[in-house]
Amino acid sequence: MSPTHRTGPARGDRSGRGRPVVVVGAGLAGLSAACHLRAQGREVVVVEREDGPGGRNGVLVRDGFTFDTGPTVLTMVDLIDEAMRAVGTRVHDELDLTLLDPAYRGRFADGSTLHVRHGHEAMRAEIAAQSGSLDAAAFDEFVVWLRKLYIAEMPHFIDANFDSPIDLLRSPRAAAELLRLGGFGRLGPAIARRFRDERLHRLFSFQAMYAGLAPNDALAIYAVITYMDSIEGVWFPAGGMRAVPAAMAAAAERAGVEFRYGQGVSRLTTAASGEVTGVELEGGERIEAASVVLTPDLPVAYERLLPDLTPPRGVAGVRGGDYSPSAVVWHLGVRGELPPQAAHHNIHFGAEWEGAFDDLLKRGTLMSDPSRLVTAHSLHDTEAAPDGCSTLYVLEPVPNLAVGRIDWAAEEPRMKERLLGFLDAEGYPTDVVTDEFVGPVQWEAQGMAAGTPFALAHTFAQTGPFRPPNVEKRRPGVFFAGSGTVPGVGVPMVLISGKLAAARVAAYDA
Ligand SMILES: Cc1cc2nc3c(=O)[nH]c(=O)nc-3n(C[C@H](O)[C@H](O)[C@H](O)COP(=O)(O)OP(=O)(O)OC[C@H]3O[C@@H](n4cnc5c(N)ncnc54)[C@H](O)[C@@H]3O)c2cc1C
Repeated sequence: MSPTHRTGPARGDRSGRGRPVVVVGAGLAGLSAACHLRAQGREVVVVEREDGPGGRNGVLVRDGFTFDTGPTVLTMVDLIDEAMRAVGTRVHDELDLTLLDPAYRGRFADGSTLHVRHGHEAMRAEIAAQSGSLDAAAFDEFVVWLRKLYIAEMPHFIDANFDSPIDLLRSPRAAAELLRLGGFGRLGPAIARRFRDERLHRLFSFQAMYAGLAPNDALAIYAVITYMDSIEGVWFPAGGMRAVPAAMAAAAERAGVEFRYGQGVSRLTTAASGEVTGVELEGGERIEAASVVLTPDLPVAYERLLPDLTPPRGVAGVRGGDYSPSAVVWHLGVRGELPPQAAHHNIHFGAEWEGAFDDLLKRGTLMSDPSRLVTAHSLHDTEAAPDGCSTLYVLEPVPNLAVGRIDWAAEEPRMKERLLGFLDAEGYPTDVVTDEFVGPVQWEAQGMAAGTPFALAHTFAQTGPFRPPNVEKRRPGVFFAGSGTVPGVGVPMVLISGKLAAARVAAYDA
């Protein structure tokens, strides 16, 4: 470990010589920022209040079971590779990654099943067998459309820093291409137009929920999320999802990044000019810094670390913005093997579709006929469960605390009972050895605004240059990464956010 950097900065010296960049938080955004900053030759100190890396990509060890508590659907591993390369290594040298096939098992209320298979031919064959030749032919055109959307969006509108909405015009050809592709129409109808089988509408548009939106309200540009998982593929690392932050942190540390775990940042220190000069830890120790990258949930970062600044629109009190729905995640360690039909990721669609989103987003109630994700980590994670046992990760979307009026203390036992009945009916083992229930109240206690781990929704007014920016001009030297800022929520997006914050730091020092 390199020595601690004490206070006493030369005012106005932004060159960073002798002063590190401090990254607050060792979640995926902070780890990505640290790698990309190190690639600039910067000294980097990551301060994390927990005892290890990962943040929301967390782990819970209990009664012989090991649960991954956050993201489960891992896509776009090239973005992990980009961060790894920045510190001199490669993702496939650090992680043993398996492509999941099927990526998802879609189970429908009528008892039928459709798999999202990896690879064009396999998926086309699945659609031909389950939905007919017209939909199979439509899939060919659908993939071409998705790929074109992705190519137009990724470099120009996702992996890009914006200083103002005018920057949207920086790439007029890409914007014109998105318009031509119907990217500014609605996602639900864009999918429904292409396929006759309603089950495919759901299978290819539920991903809008990852962006906090109902498919019928989301812009068609969000079909890129469908591209990322259903076309590019869903991966699983040996050692579980927790292996991802562990590998990133190890690679960064080998490249010289200093990690300070178990130490929360209590405030930022500033010069009289307003420039940031460092951070103060909860124990009182100060670390001087040329710049600081903040990755705690954005509203919480403003509230706790920038209390004298009025936060940007949508962040000033969670009622000022539209937050994504939250989720209940119930982790179960159970006796028994998984049924043969279970895939790694199983989506159990309720019969209700549009009304279910209204429940969540407008009425603030539980879904009357919920759709649920069951992830069976122990199918591919040999350390997850003792012999003869399995793990289940059951996720049900629920309203966030800004919209919902649910008494969670009373609801929790009822919901567990319902989920147990559902698991039993679907053939999963339900002889529970150990369990952990995480819902909006717990997410809020962990420092997530509105009790949702999915941040501000990706409405048009909260996307790109309209999302809270990753630079705080009133406090020079302060930058943000993570799901509350650009480009947005999810593992791929926060990995990009770390890179974008590192680019901001470089521009500040230049
Ligand atoms: C249940 C769940 C399911 C999900 N499913 C998926 C999925 O399948 N696919 C997908 O792509 N994404 C998914 N996501 C979203 C994805 O996990 C997140 O967007 C991403 O992990 C957020 O990373 P982050 O680094 O921005 O934030 P965090 O992981 O929250 O990192 C912030 C870090 O800052 C630390 N911190 C906070 N305050 C301080 C302080 N004062 N001092 C020091 N440290 C501090 C925290 O301890 C934390 O480690 C899911 C998330 C959850 C919770």
